[in-house]
Amino acid sequence: MIKYLTDISNVLVIGCGGAGLRAAIEVKKEGLNVKIIGKRHKKDAHTVLAAGGINASFGNVDIEDSWEQHFLDTYLEGYEIGNIEHIEIMAKESPLFVTEIDRWGANFSKLGNGKLDQRFFGAHTYRRTCYSGDYTGQSILNTLLKKVKELEIPILDNQYVTDLLLEDNKCFGALSFNTSTGDKTVFVADAVILCTGGHTRNWKRSSSRKQENYGDGYHLALKAGCSLTDMEMVQFHPTGMLKPEDIAGTLVTEAVRGEGGKLFNSLGERFMVNYDKEKMELSTRDKVAIANYTEIIEGRCTPNGGVYLDISHKEKDFILKKIPKIYRQFLEAQMLDISKKPMEVAPTAHYSMGGIKVTSQEHATSLSGLFAAGEVAGGLHGANRLGGNSLAEILVFGARAGKYASIYSKNLSIQIRSKKRIKLLIEKINNLIKKGEENSITLQNELANLMWKHCGVVKSEKSIKEGIKKIKSLKKRSEFVDVRIEKNNVQDLINLLNLKSSIITSEATLLSSLARRESRGAHQRSDYKNFSKSENYNYLISMENNNSLVISKEIIKPLEKKYKDLLIDRKIFKDFKNRLLE
Ligand SMILES: Cc1cc2nc3c(=O)[nH]c(=O)nc-3n(C[C@H](O)[C@H](O)[C@H](O)COP(=O)(O)OP(=O)(O)OC[C@H]3O[C@@H](n4cnc5c(N)ncnc54)[C@H](O)[C@@H]3O)c2cc1C
Repeated sequence: MIKYLTDISNVLVIGCGGAGLRAAIEVKKEGLNVKIIGKRHKKDAHTVLAAGGINASFGNVDIEDSWEQHFLDTYLEGYEIGNIEHIEIMAKESPLFVTEIDRWGANFSKLGNGKLDQRFFGAHTYRRTCYSGDYTGQSILNTLLKKVKELEIPILDNQYVTDLLLEDNKCFGALSFNTSTGDKTVFVADAVILCTGGHTRNWKRSSSRKQENYGDGYHLALKAGCSLTDMEMVQFHPTGMLKPEDIAGTLVTEAVRGEGGKLFNSLGERFMVNYDKEKMELSTRDKVAIANYTEIIEGRCTPNGGVYLDISHKEKDFILKKIPKIYRQFLEAQMLDISKKPMEVAPTAHYSMGGIKVTSQEHATSLSGLFAAGEVAGGLHGANRLGGNSLAEILVFGARAGKYASIYSKNLSIQIRSKKRIKLLIEKINNLIKKGEENSITLQNELANLMWKHCGVVKSEKSIKEGIKKIKSLKKRSEFVDVRIEKNNVQDLINLLNLKSSIITSEATLLSSLARRESRGAHQRSDYKNFSKSENYNYLISMENNNSLVISKEIIKPLEKKYKDLLIDRKIFKDFKNRLLE
């Protein structure tokens, strides 16, 4: 007989980051029973890393700001493939949610008049980014955790979800195992909300840490029959650390450039002059990433394969005041005093703009009873995410997903559960525990190198096709991974499941990157260098029964008149001086 525990709630939230916590709070407010589960410690979800701030068009500093301008900045900087309704909702509702979280205790910086202070972030027309020093994500996460505790919402943060439970084309819960003991639990629920973050750990250099962002949520959704949108749109941040190897990719905030940091190649040339003469180091994230990447691959790189970022021309006191975290980061990791010597940096995979295709209002997926919010959901950012919009997204759409999952649960008259399905899924997991000649850590490293080489900052048909071939071989080899578990040690199983999600989501990204024959925002092709209006599509990925991925495309709807009018009437922004980037 197959052994498992059973747990029942109205709504199950998967993921303890900002989106998951905010979703659960909304469900509780709707009067329902809700549970949050996650595979990482609740105080250490990826959200904790967010630094610079969260956007809301209060107009506290620049009174001209408005939701319309926030909408326009997001839509235009997303190169016109972002979901227009998602953007409108985020721009209109973020002030409400930022006010709320501040009231709950996030303690954002205030102006003398008591209103929230707002700073510049890259490509925003006005100062609209609210912040708590350079630890805004931590402040938001702690506040949400406090609220969740007050509302007595249970969190189980040692649960690794392996599958969603489906019957009759409806989602009735999820299957997970305890990350310490391996005990399996069937979480039965009327509705499930996926808030599992992105997939940028798939790249060799990544601003995500180990054991996060392998794309689990995308994999779960694909297996459940949902589609992913815009998976080719992966944001590379221009400046990640290069050393030591195990933290390669850790972010070096754009505040360094915002505060006067200059980029040099190994020949001592301030090369940004060749890429954006006007804005130089203050150019947009995608442009600086391409510049750094080009200098590196054309051989003008530092001894460790990066470029130099230098702020040593500034006084030490200034550096310690403005970028204390970065000063400490380099001292601790490399024994490097950045007030004396330049840093070596290179682009790093930072944010997944693509994700599960969801409706705008409800953030419902195509599977009844399944909702998704936060970085795991696609559509808001199009081809380029503006700094500060992601934290706005997790609050606004976390709450919406919570609300609509609750409405769904309340309206559900009958829920069919399938013991047969549960048994089958558990057997599938158990079958992974076997001896084999492959090792998942080795394969994960190969995958990370492959994605860096074949699907990095700039790619081409040739490189992507080679990448797809290699992925197929990795997929085969992953069938022969050695998995041994003991009482209180299931790490082999965790590593294999991380690998499986990484492989499938990397393949999705390669396929979408191959299909999009143009360069747009974060998607740069050396064989199709120009933006092409004829590529005004969203590429969709879905999974067939035999585990293979298929790609299709959906034309972007023409803009309605109300949006066209906004575009015509917009102010063109030219002065970018003193605009601190994220
Ligand atoms: C260095 C850095 C700085 C940033 N700064 C900013 C900023 O200033 N402003 C901004 O707007 N954005 C910023 N971002 C982006 C932002 O932090 C994230 O996009 C956002 O926090 C994502 O939140 P989330 O709730 O969607 O997911 P996450 O916080 O990633 O949470 C995902 C949750 O899902 C769980 N999970 C995943 N898979 C499974 C599974 N199989 N089973 C169970 N649980 C699972 C995880 O354990 C975790 O609890 C930054 C990102 C980085 C890396």
